[in-house]
Order: sequence, then structure tokens, then C-alpha cells
Amino acid sequence: MFGRFQYATEEQKQFDLTFVFIIMGLFLVVMMESLSTRFKLERAKAETLAEQLRALSEKDALTGLFNRRMLDKEFLTWKNHQPIFSLALLDLDHFKYQNDQWGHSYGDEILKCFSALLQKTALQNNGVAIRLGGEEFVVLLPMSADAAQRVLTDLATAFANADLLHGNVTFSAGIAESTLSEHQGELLKRADQLMYQAKGGGRNRICI
Ligand code: GH3
Ligand code: MG
Ligand code: MG
Repeated sequence: MFGRFQYATEEQKQFDLTFVFIIMGLFLVVMMESLSTRFKLERAKAETLAEQLRALSEKDALTGLFNRRMLDKEFLTWKNHQPIFSLALLDLDHFKYQNDQWGHSYGDEILKCFSALLQKTALQNNGVAIRLGGEEFVVLLPMSADAAQRVLTDLATAFANADLLHGNVTFSAGIAESTLSEHQGELLKRADQLMYQAKGGGRNRICI
């Protein structure tokens, strides 16, 4: 029924074939280009998500400070790179009273206010602020315990002057200066004992 198509000349056949190859080539180039653009976009999206996930896993949701998990990581870095540093453990005084008296969300406001001041103190002194949990915080400072005590005394003054609706809140702290042999648990324990000494001594004080 259908006769076989025959090119009139060999040149016409070559011309057609070349044309088809060029069109296919262009099509492939456009396809590859669009796939590569899509791949780059997807990769950028995945990188952004991974970065957000990492930030979420390192930070405390309420205060934006580093969370407890980061203490281990930071401690190792500091131990290897800082010849002298101090670990301070800070605990808000009679915080349960604030919660009971004014409500949990007011308690959260206090935590956010204190955290912002602690973060500012840490940044100004090349330190790192961490929320251990509840109303307990750690700050690593690249200095002796004496110097860290002066820094935290300024923080106490700033917190005393903070604009809190139901009056000022205080904190008690213990500061332990790192020694070469001590591991994180030992240093934290020493800071904890000093913090309890501060509580026992009447609160609103910093023991070294
Ligand atoms: P002290 O001076 O001896 O430290 O007494 P305190 O009342 O501060 O300590 P206590 O451990 O008795 O109370 C801590 C309270 O902190 C109890 C808990 O309900 C509250 N808390 C823990 N995490 C949060 C939080 O994320 N938000 C609020 N609002 N309260 C919290
Ligand atoms: Mg407390
Ligand atoms: Mg506590």
C-alpha cells in the first residue's frame, strides 16, 4: 500500500540526518541543563534543611542558647585549645516561687530575659552560654575563675536591673577553673558544689 520512501539524492538524505542529529543534540543539551538546574536547587534545599536541623539539635527552643548536648562538644574543643578557662554553673534563685506566683509563662519570660543577658555576656567575653535544663545554665569563659567572677558580677547587676514585671530575680553561681587532668564531669561537679555553697550562703552570690 505504502511505497518505501526514497531520497532523491544522497545529499538530501545526509542533510535530513544531520538536521535530526542537531535537533536531538539540542534537545539533550536543554534536558541536561534543566536536570542540572533542578539538581542544584534540590541540593541547596537539602543543605538548608540539614543546616536548620543541625541548629535545632544544638539549640534550646525557649531561649535559643546551646542545649546540654553541646556542653560535651564545647568542653572537648575548649580543653584542646584553651590554656585557661572556667566553667560557671548558674541557677536562678527561688524560681519555683516565680512560677507558682505569676504563672509558667511569666517564668518563661524570666528565663528568656536571663538567657539574653547571659548570651550577651558570653559573646562579649568570647565565651559560650548553654542552658543545661530548667533554670540551670553553664557558661564557659576563657579566663581564670577570679576574672570570671568579675564578669558574672556584672551579669548579676544587669539582671538586677532587668525590666521584669514582678520585680527582680537573682541567681547563684559556682565557678570552677579548669585543670589539665580534670575531665568534664569532674569540673562540672566542682562548679555544682560551689553553686550549692552559694545557695547555702544565702543565694544571690558567686562562689569560686
Ligand atoms: P533554688 O533557689 O533553691 O534554686 O530554688 P528554685 O525554686 O529555683 O528551684 P527548684 O528546683 O525548686 O525549682 C525549679 C523550677 O523550675 C521547677 C520547674 O517547674 C521550673 N522549670 C523548669 N523548667 C522550666 C521552664 O522551661 N519554664 C518554666 N516556666 N519553669 C520551668
Ligand atoms: Mg533554682
Ligand atoms: Mg535548679
